[in-house]
Amino acid sequence: ATPLAVASGIREAADRGIVVASDAVFESVPDADVVVFDKTGTLTDGAMTVRDVVVNGDADDADNTDADDTDSVLARAGALERFSAHPIAAAIADAAEETPDAEDVETHDRGVTGVVDGEQVVVGHPSLVESRGVALTSSDKATIADARDAGSVPVVVAWGGRVRGVVVVGDTPRPEWETAVAAIGGDRDVVILTGDDERAVSRFHADPNVSEVFAGVPPQAKRETIERLKSRGTVAMVGDGSNDALALAAADIGIALGSGTDLAGDAADAVLVRNDLDAVPEVFAVARGTNRRLR
Ligand code: ADP
Ligand code: MG
Repeated sequence: ATPLAVASGIREAADRGIVVASDAVFESVPDADVVVFDKTGTLTDGAMTVRDVVVNGDADDADNTDADDTDSVLARAGALERFSAHPIAAAIADAAEETPDAEDVETHDRGVTGVVDGEQVVVGHPSLVESRGVALTSSDKATIADARDAGSVPVVVAWGGRVRGVVVVGDTPRPEWETAVAAIGGDRDVVILTGDDERAVSRFHADPNVSEVFAGVPPQAKRETIERLKSRGTVAMVGDGSNDALALAAADIGIALGSGTDLAGDAADAVLVRNDLDAVPEVFAVARGTNRRLR
């Protein structure tokens, strides 16, 4: 039989828009030594939009205008991004007015490749483009650094052996992220885990309540990072999206933001259906209270 304290803990959580899927929440959350946050879609709202398109003008073609380049960079990038489920992809596909057909499309952890208008096109993280043998010029690198300094994500678009442009994409930190992180309480380490680069998380890293940042971590490696953090004690992970399902499952406690029907929800011990980071410290408060009544 479910102890009364657990039943009332579940109800108390539900009243706050928190679905408790496992008793582990009441048993382990109060003991959490490390609380790991995903960045994109978790500390930020995940609503990606295209902020800028920086094109490399074609010096060989006197008739070419910047506007032509912007359109063709967006169109070819969008043609490939239509095949990706990543939030960045939807922003770029939406920004492209018309997208040509694409063939031989492959989605990767860090972008998409395929043939558009007869050209082999790469769109994604600078490292994906470089891994396809395309060198970044110093001006490309400056554009990438500027985007990251602004907290945005630079998406590089290349074909014919050259970078054709950088699509600058971004979302916004959730307004409540600082208060949520500050309110978790206890002697816990707050850690940020992200596929993005160190520079893109600098504004989060600067917060006095954030003890550590693991940047540039691809989805599979997020799981390994969680396993390693477990040597420090009990680990809670807060994440969103299907990208984080493995990491949520690997943690002692997985807390998923958003709908409980997606992949991440299935891997989670608690689901914050109230899509709000202030619900995270509330999970801790409810779990502490319930735990006290259980003991
Ligand atoms: P996060 O941990 O912040 O949620 P991800 O692991 O989902 O980040 O992605 C890491 C990086 O890979 C992104 O910041 C982006 O540079 C690149 N990336 C991944 N998917 C795509 C895509 N479909 N198009 C362009 N870039 C992508
Ligand atoms: Mg994410």
